[in-house]
Amino acid sequence: MNQLPNVSRRCHVLRQLLTSGMLLMVMLTVAGSPGIASAAELLAGAAKVDITNRDVPLVNDPLYVKALVIKEGDTTAAIVTVDAVAIGEIGSITNEYLGNVRDQIEQDLHIKPQNIMINASHCHGIVCKDVEQRTVKAIKEAAKKLVPVKVGVGTGHEDRVMENRRLFLKNGKEADVRHAYSLPPDEEVAGIGPIDPEIGILKLDKLDGETLAVVYNFACHPIQGVPNKGNTADMSGLASQVIEDNLSDGTIALFVQGCGGDINPAQYKDVDNPRDAETLGNLLALSTLKAIRNIKCTDDSGLKLINETLTLPRSNNEKRIAELKQEQEQLLNSLQGTSLNLKTFLPLIVKYKLYEEHPSYYSHRYMLEQKLGRDGLKKLDAENRANMERYINNIYKMEKMSRNKANLALLTKHQTRNQAAGKTIDVEVVAFKLGDFRMITFPAELTVNIGLNIKKKSPFENTFVAGYTNGYNYYAPTAEQLKNVGNAQEDSDCLFAPEWQAIFESKAHELIQQLK
Ligand SMILES: [Zn+2]
Repeated sequence: MNQLPNVSRRCHVLRQLLTSGMLLMVMLTVAGSPGIASAAELLAGAAKVDITNRDVPLVNDPLYVKALVIKEGDTTAAIVTVDAVAIGEIGSITNEYLGNVRDQIEQDLHIKPQNIMINASHCHGIVCKDVEQRTVKAIKEAAKKLVPVKVGVGTGHEDRVMENRRLFLKNGKEADVRHAYSLPPDEEVAGIGPIDPEIGILKLDKLDGETLAVVYNFACHPIQGVPNKGNTADMSGLASQVIEDNLSDGTIALFVQGCGGDINPAQYKDVDNPRDAETLGNLLALSTLKAIRNIKCTDDSGLKLINETLTLPRSNNEKRIAELKQEQEQLLNSLQGTSLNLKTFLPLIVKYKLYEEHPSYYSHRYMLEQKLGRDGLKKLDAENRANMERYINNIYKMEKMSRNKANLALLTKHQTRNQAAGKTIDVEVVAFKLGDFRMITFPAELTVNIGLNIKKKSPFENTFVAGYTNGYNYYAPTAEQLKNVGNAQEDSDCLFAPEWQAIFESKAHELIQQLK
């Protein structure tokens, strides 16, 4: 909160002075900082603005845009987080949003466009129509509140709230856990993919020891929903609220989505209990708070930001699309005739599973038939069993067809687009450093292996990776996962050719090494 009187007059003066290049001095004055700070002093301010779309039947909890503005010497950067599905492309944030926000902030605050990072939590909540203006407002409010800060870095551990959604099948292929289609039968599943339980945390404290802001990075789709099905910021938004409520008054907690491309909330397909993001959010918040207690903030800052454009190859899945269409045709032709329909199948399968020996009548009737040398019941049972097996096989084939159909639609959509767009795609990659906190960003849904690889190879202990930042280019799975094109969402809902992974990972490594 800005506790100085006559705020609107100060804002007016601020605008005038900003244009005359006196940013640092003004910010110190507005912040009420004692004395003249040295150029290397680290300043930060944070703010949040409600972006909930309330024009919906029910709102469960608010969605926010949050901004953290950091200034050291001549460098000013902003980390912005939005409780939204993506920065452009899908959902209600437009493709012009990022450019417009950056232009406005450059014009009004003289922060370089490439120093403004905007990460979408990827929650599937609905934001208000003027989210762009509210984002600008959040950044401006944060910039107005710059005060000297110390920084600290730490990591937490959370492995209870999520699960990898890719299933390794016995036939060598992979399926994924979605609501859009049925899972393959349990008997076909041989293994599951990894998770990343690390929470990467950056803490900024004011000089009086009060916490100003916490940035925390974690990999999981925040798509669990809430029991009342209302508009929600989901697990990450609910976790941020708990973190803010349990630190100094006015603390802003910014959730930065990590490599959550193939990470689902735990028990995402539960049909026996209402799925509740609040339970998961509480666990994530408690694990983050536990780690925050151990973070010591120091003067050792060193703000650095590198923004590069990376050219990546686009995929061509023409052959795979043709194969999938052929497979659909084969599955359709392999459906078997059976006397049963759903109405007759369901009671039969219950009887035959419960009473394996005598499913069709009481045991005495079977005994009598045996005594008399008759086998009518046995033959009926054999016929019913054969019909049920055909019916179940048909269901599995239809489930497979529904998976193929959804993934084929994604492939076809991207194929048309990729063919029209040429061979490559440019993406924005940012390398960010503050204190011992280092982060690489990428504008797509990175799968968890990418993050684990980059972290493992980094020479620095606290290196983190954020997908969903500064744009949205659908999924970015590994080259290995792209061998599975057509069988899971991440490998089908993707614009990149497999070579993209090596190009990005080596660029990430190169940039991280520059974050000394
Ligand atoms: Zn997603």
